[in-house]
Amino acid sequence: MSRSVLVTGGNRGIGLAIARVFAEAGDKVAITYRSGEPPQELASLGVLAVRCDITDSEQVEQAYKEIEDKHGAVEVLVANAGITKDTLLMRMSEEDFASVVDTNLTGTFRVVKRANRGMLRAKKGRVVMISSVVGLLGAAGQANYAASKAALVGFARSLARELGSRNITFNVVAPGFVDTDMTKVLTDEQRAAIVGQVPLGRYAQPEEIAAAVSFLASDDAAYITGAVIPVDGGLGM
Ligand code: NAD
Repeated sequence: MSRSVLVTGGNRGIGLAIARVFAEAGDKVAITYRSGEPPQELASLGVLAVRCDITDSEQVEQAYKEIEDKHGAVEVLVANAGITKDTLLMRMSEEDFASVVDTNLTGTFRVVKRANRGMLRAKKGRVVMISSVVGLLGAAGQANYAASKAALVGFARSLARELGSRNITFNVVAPGFVDTDMTKVLTDEQRAAIVGQVPLGRYAQPEEIAAAVSFLASDDAAYITGAVIPVDGGLGM
């Protein structure tokens, strides 16, 4: 059965791998992206790419209207879009903190709330939020990011309790370090130090995160809600 799937931040990295896995399974996939041009691969997969900044509720509303028009109400939402603005506490401006929270947490709130309009009507839905091992462990220089990602756990678990009776599940995937643009900024030394801490001794590939998301959206995961699934090579245990 072909479902209407939305992946925020699906133009690259983890989001692109997630969009690919659903598109290849025959779902009707839409992605949102904030800037630049979405890769040609998405068009060849039949993925609908909609420009939308999730910090702007009006843009979120417009994006959902376009997606509903073309694919019907969103049945599977993957809230993946996120940013980092790493710096130590005493150098962290209020703007550095607020903008990360506004994208990673409040942005997720905006897209989840809008998706639930259709999910409540359909009496079913799947929401997967992409947190991070950093949200569970903390990381020096990432207090803003870690706080926003930890908050997703409380957000998802509250909604799992609130909306379980409506047959909507809310789960969290917490990746470890993944080979994407987000981690390209790290120096070779930082990379080696991270890999040294990971029991499996390497970074994840985006497809390994996508596999967990795809499972949580599948019929096999119908009885899983409020779960936090680490896909981190053992880093967070
Ligand atoms: P990335 O930087 O390659 O992609 C981030 C995506 O988010 C992009 O598509 C971007 O357009 C989108 N985005 C950012 N701000 C947005 C906004 N305001 N509105 C709309 N879209 C916006 O990053 P990635 O590594 O693919 O990360 C994807 C998710 O996984 C993020 O939430 C990130 O925090 C999380 N994560 C990444 C890693 C990692 O090691 N790469 C580890 C744990 C968690």
